[in-house]
Amino acid sequence: MKYFKSILLVSLFAVLSIGVAAQDMLVDKVVVSRHMERVDSVAPHNMLLNESYVIPSMDMYPKWENTGVHFTATLPDSFKIDLTGFVMPTTSRKITDIFGYRPRRRRVHNGLDIKVERGDTIYAAFDGKVRITAYQRRGYGHYVVIRHNNGIETLYAHLSKKLVIENQNVKAGQPIGLGGNTGRSTGSHLHFETILLGKCIDPAKLFDFKNQTVTGESYVYRRPGSRYIENGKVKVAGPEPKFHKVKSGDTIAKIAKKHGVSQRSIFKLNGLTANSIIRPGQRLRVQ
Ligand SMILES: [Zn+2]
Repeated sequence: MKYFKSILLVSLFAVLSIGVAAQDMLVDKVVVSRHMERVDSVAPHNMLLNESYVIPSMDMYPKWENTGVHFTATLPDSFKIDLTGFVMPTTSRKITDIFGYRPRRRRVHNGLDIKVERGDTIYAAFDGKVRITAYQRRGYGHYVVIRHNNGIETLYAHLSKKLVIENQNVKAGQPIGLGGNTGRSTGSHLHFETILLGKCIDPAKLFDFKNQTVTGESYVYRRPGSRYIENGKVKVAGPEPKFHKVKSGDTIAKIAKKHGVSQRSIFKLNGLTANSIIRPGQRLRVQ
């Protein structure tokens, strides 16, 4: 019995000393990580985001509402969107209009247009929960918004019919509507948006309709102007597009000077040539 007691004591001592040693190591680690934080304040932030992206939609959105497609929220410096488990919203490969500013119509296009026929099945892109089903006569027509477990929301517009109801859980690939031409639309097509915390991001950065796949296992959204580390170098995420409303008397040279950009880049961004005429009220992309 005495023998056992001494073994117990010895092991207790061993546990205690390991405990002390581990604590020492822990202190060392804290010092190291504090030091790293100062040198590279971006990395710990990114790590936190990556850790929490398992079911980010649970805590990243402040509330659940059945209204308001786009809203203003504070976007993180970076956010990793998990694209695994996707299903293409349509089997169509034909893009009829891209995301971004359309000089021809002088407005920003918040999504991607894909050619579909009336009655074609439209599928949920990821698992999620239907947040909005509504009808907008002068806009989206019949449309559906789904909040996904990977943190983004997707919108499907100009549908001829909706096949889901609000607050319904859906699986990736579940039919959610039929293609159509409702709302402000000329010719049947699917208007598809990908939205992160109320802000539209280019669906082509996530989905490759031509090849019926996603662009990778994940896509990292970076807030314009935010700093990040790539291959050991600090980089700054690109700026958001900037626009200029043409006033009478404006010339490309004047506009370029005002915004500190080259005339050539304005020509390029807006598909203009030296012979193009700009008119007052027209919106030009300058960045
Ligand atoms: Zn569209």
